[in-house]
Formats: sequence, structure tokens, C-alpha cells
Amino acid sequence: MIRFAIALLLTLSVPVQNRAIAYDISYRLAMSHPASHLFEVTIEVQVPAAERATYIDFQIPMWQPGRYSIADFAKNVQEFTARSGNAQLSWMKVDNQTWRVQRGMNRTTTVTYRMFGDDLSGTYAQLDIGHANYTGGELFMYVVGHKPDPVQLRIEPPANWNVINGRSERANQVEWQYPNYEIMIDNPTEIGPDWTVDEFKVQGKTYRVVVHSRGEEGGRRPSLVRDIQKIVEAETKMWGPPEFDTYTFMIHFAADDRSGDGMEHLTSTQIIEPGILAERGSYDDAVRAAAHEFFHVWNVKRLRPIELGPWDWTKPAATRGLWIAEGFTQYYGVMMYHRAGFQNAEGLLNSLGNTIGTIENSPASKLMSAEASSMAASFIDAALHRQRTNLPNTSLSYYLKGELIALNLDLIIREKTAGRYSLDDVMRKAYEQFYLNSPNATYYLKGRGYTIEDFAGVVSEVAGTDLADFFAKYVRGTETLPYDEALGGVGLRLVKSPANQPYTAGIVLDPEDRQGMRLGALRTGSPAERGGLQQGDVLMEIGGISVARENWRSILNRFKQGDRVPVSVRRLRQTLDLSIQLDTPEAFVYRIDEERGASAQSKALRAAWLN
Ligand SMILES: [Zn+2]
Ligand SMILES: [Zn+2]
Repeated sequence: MIRFAIALLLTLSVPVQNRAIAYDISYRLAMSHPASHLFEVTIEVQVPAAERATYIDFQIPMWQPGRYSIADFAKNVQEFTARSGNAQLSWMKVDNQTWRVQRGMNRTTTVTYRMFGDDLSGTYAQLDIGHANYTGGELFMYVVGHKPDPVQLRIEPPANWNVINGRSERANQVEWQYPNYEIMIDNPTEIGPDWTVDEFKVQGKTYRVVVHSRGEEGGRRPSLVRDIQKIVEAETKMWGPPEFDTYTFMIHFAADDRSGDGMEHLTSTQIIEPGILAERGSYDDAVRAAAHEFFHVWNVKRLRPIELGPWDWTKPAATRGLWIAEGFTQYYGVMMYHRAGFQNAEGLLNSLGNTIGTIENSPASKLMSAEASSMAASFIDAALHRQRTNLPNTSLSYYLKGELIALNLDLIIREKTAGRYSLDDVMRKAYEQFYLNSPNATYYLKGRGYTIEDFAGVVSEVAGTDLADFFAKYVRGTETLPYDEALGGVGLRLVKSPANQPYTAGIVLDPEDRQGMRLGALRTGSPAERGGLQQGDVLMEIGGISVARENWRSILNRFKQGDRVPVSVRRLRQTLDLSIQLDTPEAFVYRIDEERGASAQSKALRAAWLN
């Protein structure tokens, strides 16, 4: 409550031109028939007497923070109604996400709607007989022009279901006040009969681990909580304690082999594992996800690219900075897992070598820069495509490319400053400069967002040398990262060798056609493409032998480099006989090795980095 008052004060003290007169906006969320998957939302708006506008636009976001693909939550809205007291108000849809209600001169407007939700995900909501789980933007419409206004929320859970989220301050709390809509929808909430909560403290702050297991736990919950504590200790050792008092890890073990996600929020994270807690793999994934998501407390939720908040929910976000926001977080997720003691140096170098392999083997590594990848987020971040695309050939992950940019910068800074500074100093300095010590630039949150140029400036400052050239070549451009220079500085080297995996000749099966042999987007410039195979063809025979999902690779690999192999496909109701000429190996393994004869200084830098 105290924190709310302070935030509100800051909000009101920001001069905003042409700010509309604040409305009184309250939300009610009910779920009286869980099996229907229908959430019941009521929004009541009190308009000040001085307001001249005779209508109110209610709008549901197209997407929400952290997941950049367009989700179009509007498609699950049903049974919209509007009234003032007992009088019905007329309304109409004015576009695919906006409901315009004619309030006339009525001061009170109440709208209701039901929202279908049956996906356990950090983006969509789920209501079923076992629980309700939502993030916010997928359920709650905002009042157009009044996103900055304070809002209230009341949740009405079914009997014996309890509510918890990252802003719960007491048991069974069902009412909250938020300084604005954006803060309200940044608060994943779990409502159910059988979630558990465990607590620990680090540096005076309280951490909660909320677990909803939809499967066996195998007695692993206490050790999961202890391992998450190790992650928190490692990360707060770098950053210092966070600025809030309580943080909540909300973890689902979905047991459906389908649902999986990790999403960062201001005072919580929502992690969803498709397996069960009793399984070692699900357990480890949850700890790794916690390492990544908790780092977001600083990087992205507070230290943020200028475009990330407040948001325009009517079009996709466009930021050039996701290679920092996600990519550097990816790097630190890996490093913090290491610093917390879960793996040795060999494990870390293996993991980094694998990431180098993923990026360098990708056909897009010379087509899409880290910045361009950020700008393509709405196409590549879990977006569904109705039309065929060439994205498998042209798009690169800003997570993994960003991780490698961070790795290179970290090692280069350590080398250039003889170990005095590292990327940790860049992150802390940027956090202080743009978040802690900048005046509020908007109603949304403390501080201001950074531009890429701002961030690059901090990197050069810490490195003590102008790294503009680095950003031009490896961030804006697509040149191969300077692995030799970066790894060489700490006495390591990159070794590349052909991968010990079946050759594919560029053939890619359509992942949508799970059993069949339909081809997806073939690798650009590959033998398969040169041989005339096309996306949509159904692969029938290789070398005269009929093929299936299980055996096509082994049959193809009976042939050698240089061989011309007959292939038949079904296309447009005809069988076509084609041939492909096998080429040089297409995939390589990258391994990070120690450099023999490394200097004592580079060995010392390596030890400091690894410990
Ligand atoms: Zn749940
Ligand atoms: Zn992330």
C-alpha cells in the first residue's frame, strides 16, 4: 500500500501535456463456471462531470509485454454488454479490438464481457476446473486515453480457491490498487485450490516460490526452493538487493507435455514447465529459467529500451534492443547458473560452444543482424504463420545472437581493462544511469528507456575505448563475431569441426505435417533446392527406396559427398523424378578449448571470468 502511494505521487508529479481528466476505473474478475473456460470481466468507469466526450472506447491489447507476436486477444471476447445503472447503453465495434460505448452524459458506465481462455501460457489465460491463471492484457480492456489513470481490481474466486500474485501483501488478498493499467497487467496471478508457497530471505528481501504441480513432485520441492535461493544469491551479489521487498517465482509443472514458458514481470516471474517436478529434466529447466527470468528484474523490466513502456497496444512493438534486453539476459542466465555453482567450467564452455554452433550453422547468420532480429520480434517470437514464409532461412534468434554479443563484449572488456571491469559493470552503470538516476520520462515507470546509442556509449565508457566499430560490424551488421580476439584474451580458442550428425542435403520436413513427408522451407542454396525440390512436395523415394520420417536420413546417408542421388516426390498429384548432388558437410560443431601457451595474464583473466 505504501509503495502504491509513492508510485501514484510520482505519476501525478510528472507533467504530461493534454492529459485527459482522470477517470475512476475499477475491474472485477469472476469465474463462476471454471469448466466453461470463461472468465467474467466487469469494468466500471466513473467519468468526472467536466468530461465532454459522450462515448468511451474500451480496447483489448493485440499483444502484451515480453511476448512480441500479435496475439489478438479480442478474438476470445464474447457477450459484451454496456449499461449505466439499469439502463442499457448502445455500443458498437469500431475496429477489431475496440468497443465504443455511448455513455451520453451518464457519469457511470459499466461494461461486462466474458473471455474464453484455455491455454496455460505466460501470454494467454487459462480457466479450468483445476485453476485460473492469467497475466492481464489478455483479459482486461483499457479505457482509451486513460491508460495512465489509477485502476482498482477485485477478484472473486470460486469457493476454496486462493489468489496469489507478485503483489499479494497478505493471505487471501483479493483487492488491489495499481498506479496505472500497464502495472496491473504486469502481474501474473494464480487462483486455485492447491498451489503451494515457500519463502526465503536474501539480503533482507522476501522471495516466494509458488508451485502449482499438475503431476508428481517426487519430494523435490524443498530442493527446488533451495536451488532458486542460490540463483537469487548469485544475482543479487552482482546487482545488490532489488528495490522492492517481495518477489514471487510462480511456477507451473503442467504435466501436459505441451505448455512451456518463462515470462518476466516487475515483481514476479511466471515459469511453466511442460513436465512434472519429479522429473530431473523439468526440475533443471525450471532452475535455468529462474536464472534467466530473475535477471530480467533489472535488465528489461527496469533498465529497458526506450520503446518498451508505455506501450501502444494497437500495433506490434518495434525496438532495436532485444539483443540486449533478451540476449544479454540469456548470457547472464547461463553465467548465473554457473556462478550459483550448478555446473563446472567445462559445462559452461560446452554450453557457450553449442550456442556458437547454433548461430554459426544458421543460414540466417549472414542475412539478419542482431538489430534486425530485434525488429523482427513480432514475426519470430512464437508467432503463428498462416502463409508460407522463408523465416527458417532468414531469421536469427536475438536471444542467442545477443548471448554471443554479450560473451564477446564481456571478454573484450576484461582484456582491455586488464580485468578491472567486465560486462557486469556495464549493466550496473546502465541501470543506475537510465533507471535509478534518470527523472521519470513517462507515467509508466521510474527512469527512462535507453536508445541503442545510449547503451553502446556505456559499453565504450566501461571498456575505456571506443567500441563503435564493434556495434557497426556485429550488431548492426552481420559480420562473424570476433571469437578469436574475445576468447584469445582469456587464453581460449574456438575449434570448428564437421558435426557428427546425419547429412540432410538441405531437406527440411514441414513441422506441421507431423507424420508425413511434406517438405517445409528448404535450406537456401542447398543441394535439395538446386535439385528442384520445393516446399510442399511430398518426399517419396531416395535412391529408389521409399522413405518415411524414421528412415529418410539414414537412407540419404548411404550416399557420399559428390554422389548424384535420384529422388522422387509427389507434387500437384503427379510423381516427379529428380536428383540431388550431395555437397560438403553442412553443419559444424564448435568447441571452446584452452589455448596452449596462453600467457599468465590471460589465464588470470579466465579464472576471474569463470569464478
Ligand atoms: Zn495453476
Ligand atoms: Zn527473457
